[in-house]
Amino acid sequence: MDIDLAELDAVRVYALPMRNRFRGITVRRGVLLSGPSGWGEFCPFEDYDDAQSVPWLRTALEACGRGWPEPVRDRIPVNCTVPAVPADKAHRIAAGSGCTTAKVKVAETGQSPGEDLERVAAVRDALGTSGAIRIDANAAWDVDTAVARIIELDRAAGGLEYAEQPCPSVEELAEVRRRVDVRIAADESIRRAEDPLRVAVAGAADVAIIKAAPLGGVRRALEVAEACGLPCVVSSAVESSVGLSAQLALAGALPELPFACGLGTIALLEGDVVAEPLLPVDGHLPVPSKPPEPDPAKVTAATPPADVQRRWIDRLIRVNELV
Ligand SMILES: [Mg+2]
Repeated sequence: MDIDLAELDAVRVYALPMRNRFRGITVRRGVLLSGPSGWGEFCPFEDYDDAQSVPWLRTALEACGRGWPEPVRDRIPVNCTVPAVPADKAHRIAAGSGCTTAKVKVAETGQSPGEDLERVAAVRDALGTSGAIRIDANAAWDVDTAVARIIELDRAAGGLEYAEQPCPSVEELAEVRRRVDVRIAADESIRRAEDPLRVAVAGAADVAIIKAAPLGGVRRALEVAEACGLPCVVSSAVESSVGLSAQLALAGALPELPFACGLGTIALLEGDVVAEPLLPVDGHLPVPSKPPEPDPAKVTAATPPADVQRRWIDRLIRVNELV
């Protein structure tokens, strides 16, 4: 462990509304911790139990107690995200993003395969031939559906960079991967430190989507990335700019970063806890040398009612017992 809770200078609970529902939640909550090397963010999703939340606390304590390893690059290309919207809106989102890579959501419940095809074709038109398009099915398909859809979408998109989590299980991903030429990326299949290696051994993916927080910090995530041997894409857990800076530190320190990262997520939140939110400029985010300092007025504005604060502090104390 990097630092003891008792050694922290400050602990602040925050709650930021989400612009759109995400993972069934409408408010993102967490705790900001201040220590000798700066600020960390402890923000496991509300449905995670204490044991699942341990790596999230390790990530926060690394940031505020030890700091991060030296980066090997100073800025990170990020993708824009195109939700399951009509083609004309998808075109506007991709064209206005400033990004050369787009992640397009597909396989939305209640929509037809034709809507997915029109959406990726519109995004290709917006990005031009040099742009990169990846699709994310969020584990919605079975193997045969995934194979059929990926082949069609690859054609409609004029080539896909990769298909993210087409099916739920590692075994299914491996089978889809054997049957299509498009790269397969594992996202939902990677939630614990042992998962990337499991995915790699099963031949289930060409790309691993990783996040610092569930893997236990920047250093631990770098070890996991090296052990699995797959190219990695770093994606956020929709943290405030404090927590997002740890993900950027990870993306900055990975030896290879062949694809744009999913870190342009601050705009998903209504507000932030820092004065200058980590919003992409020209499709890139800077790699910070240390976490940004929270702005006192913004933290005060984001402070939830006393019962919510109590719940998060209790959670922090319980999880700390397990670290
Ligand atoms: Mg995904």
